[in-house]
This record gives sequence, structure tokens and C-alpha cells, in this order.
Amino acid sequence: MSDMAVTRELFDQVMVPNYAPSGSIPVRGQGARVWDQQGREFIDFAGGIAVNCLGHCHPALVGALKEQGEKLWHLSNVWTNEPALRLGKKLVDATFAERVYFCNSGAEANEAALKLARRYAIEHHGPEKTQIIAFHQGFHGRTFFTVTVGGQAAYSDGFGPKPADVEHVPYNDLDALKALISDRTCAVVMEPLQGEGGIISPNADFVQAVRELCDQHNALLVFDEVQTGVGRTGALYAYMDLGVTPDILTSAKALGGGFPIGAMLTRADIAASLKPGTHGSTYGGNPLACAVAEAAFDTVNTPEVLAGVKEREGWYREDLAKINAKYQCFSEVRGKGLLLGCVMNEQYQGRAKEFLQAASEEGLMVLIAGANVVRFAPSLVITREEVQEGLARFERAVARVVNG
Ligand SMILES: *Cc1c(COP(=O)(O)O)cnc(C)c1O
Repeated sequence: MSDMAVTRELFDQVMVPNYAPSGSIPVRGQGARVWDQQGREFIDFAGGIAVNCLGHCHPALVGALKEQGEKLWHLSNVWTNEPALRLGKKLVDATFAERVYFCNSGAEANEAALKLARRYAIEHHGPEKTQIIAFHQGFHGRTFFTVTVGGQAAYSDGFGPKPADVEHVPYNDLDALKALISDRTCAVVMEPLQGEGGIISPNADFVQAVRELCDQHNALLVFDEVQTGVGRTGALYAYMDLGVTPDILTSAKALGGGFPIGAMLTRADIAASLKPGTHGSTYGGNPLACAVAEAAFDTVNTPEVLAGVKEREGWYREDLAKINAKYQCFSEVRGKGLLLGCVMNEQYQGRAKEFLQAASEEGLMVLIAGANVVRFAPSLVITREEVQEGLARFERAVARVVNG
């Protein structure tokens, strides 16, 4: 094993080709820095796609992993365990929710939310109430139900018949939602800031109006906070800054700080529809994942870290404005907290990927969100020095693209 040549070529030889990973293979990370096999250093503004909320190898997470790793890893849900109960209690205490369901990913959390919304509507209002409304460009995961609810047909087409009674309207288009919603609507599913779809914030009155429409038609409001949750926008959950409370909320990504875990949060009266045997997961709520997530949650859910996210947003916006003043390639920098998007202007339409590639060549990891947005989702505790160094590399990358 140890003398096997592990190269990028091996990926094409043994892996299913659904990903096209970068040429270099990272082997180690610390804080917001990552090193590849050749020892090349990267500043990480991608954060494992909004997952590594405390950077790489944060001592609180490493400590929790080691401690729990020597105690108990997995039991199945035939038994409960202390880390799951502690994390559940903390999530309930910190949010609108009264009940928590644990799983292993964002898609699984949304799958649970969708199944629960259907069950609840059928039990309380009858078998006709099954319509799910979601938004164009929304993203909710890759299981067949969640990808169908997601707002990009390209991701759900080509797999045969889709789960039925799922419809989409444009994000921020209240009239379209009004025209579609009815007493047959069981749930409206939305991201309180669209991530994958291009870092699109809801209009101030839109979210309130969606809530009111849901109430009028006895439809549940499901907030997918898989990307926005656990401090990403500067609030523990994004709904807290929007003046609207959902009925069901899903969390994953940053919840485990890099360890796979997902959660669905809801009220007790709604949760009652998931009676014993109606839904489940072998690994969901395992002690190892919950112990790490508890440490991540304790570390992030402090006034210092949450206020620090807003402060860091300021650092980014200030420097990005300077870069753009010089190179004129972005029409705006949008998003909230540490989920930010640089939007390509007229001249650079469709070329976000070139900025990502140039950044990588300069030793910087960034993300894109569609063809027109360069996305940053760094560690919530990234240092001033790491932000400065990363943005200096980003400026060099921008210069490369602009100067051809
Ligand atoms: C990433 C993401 C998901 C899917 O999460 P997985 O852990 O990849 O299943 C769902 N919803 C949103 C908003 C996301 O950003």
C-alpha cells in the first residue's frame, strides 16, 4: 500500500467520472492553509464548500474527535447516545426548533424535511395536499427527491420519472408564488440566501410575504440552511436576521466543521408525524459525528465568533472593492457574512471558472457559483493575515485573467 504511486491520473483510472478534480492533491491543512503532495501552499477561501467553518484541524474539533474516537463511534439508532442528546439539546435551545433529527448530509436532511412535510400535510389536511413549491436555481442536494425539488432541471433530468407534484417559481418573484400556491400546497422550500444558484439574497419583504402565504394556505415553510447555517452569514442561522421563522430547517455542511453530519429541526407538533418506523438512517446521530459537531457548535455559537464573521465580511468587501476599482471585472460583490460572490460584469460573462483556475495557479482556493460568480466561503475564524495574503493572491489572479 505505502509504496503505491498516488497521483491525479489514478483518479481517472479508478473513480467514477462524476467529478473533475483539480490537478494537485492536497495532503494537509492547518487553519486557512492547505498543502499539496509537492508541498505547495494554498490559502483556502473555499472552506470545503462552506463546510470547514473553523478551518482545518481546529484544536477544538481535533480534541473532540480524538476523545470520542477512543470512547464510542457507532451504535445505530437502536440505542441513543450522549453526544447526540447534548447536540440536540443545544440546537433546540438555540433555535425555534423543539425536535431534531440527525442524518449524514444536507441532501439527507432535506429528504427528511420533504418526507415529513408530505406526511404532516396528508395526516392533517388530507391526501390531496402534496404540492411542493421551490425556486429556480435553488439547490437542495442530489438524492432524486431533493434534486427534483432543486431548481435546475439539468441536474434532475435523465434519470427517468421524477418524484411528482414538485413545481418551481423564480426566486424573489412574489406574484409567481401567489399565482401557484393554493390549499393543495404542502410546503414551500427555499434557501434564505441561494448559494449554489449564484449567491442571491432574498428581497427584504419577499421572505415575510412567503411566510404569510404559507400561513394562509396551511403550507409548511422549509428553510434549507445547509449552506447558510452555523454562523456563515453572521447569525447562527440566517432566518434569525430575516424576521421570519420557518416550520422546518435543515442544517449540514458547517454543522460538523468537516465531519459528515446533517440535521433537520422542527416544532414538536410537526415532528409528531415522524412516528417510530416512518424514517431513519443507520449512521444518523452517531456519537463520533455528534461529538465533533457539538465542539463545532460550541465554538461557533459565541458572540465573538458571530460578530467576527461580520467583521471579516468588511475586510473582504474593502479589499475586493479596491481590486475591482483597479481591474473592473465585477458588477458587484454580493452575499452576506462569509458567503460572498464576485459577480462577473458584462465583459466577463461566463468566465468565473477562469478566475478560479488563475487563483489556483496563484495558490488560492476559491469556488464558483454558476458561470458568473466567484464564490468565497472561508473559515469563520480566518485571520486578518490569511485574508490579506489570500486577497493579494486573488488580485494577482484577477490581473492574469484581465491581462489575458
Ligand atoms: C450543499 C447543499 C446541499 C446538499 O448537501 P450535501 O451534504 O451535499 O448532501 C443542500 N442544500 C444546500 C443549500 C446546499 O448548499
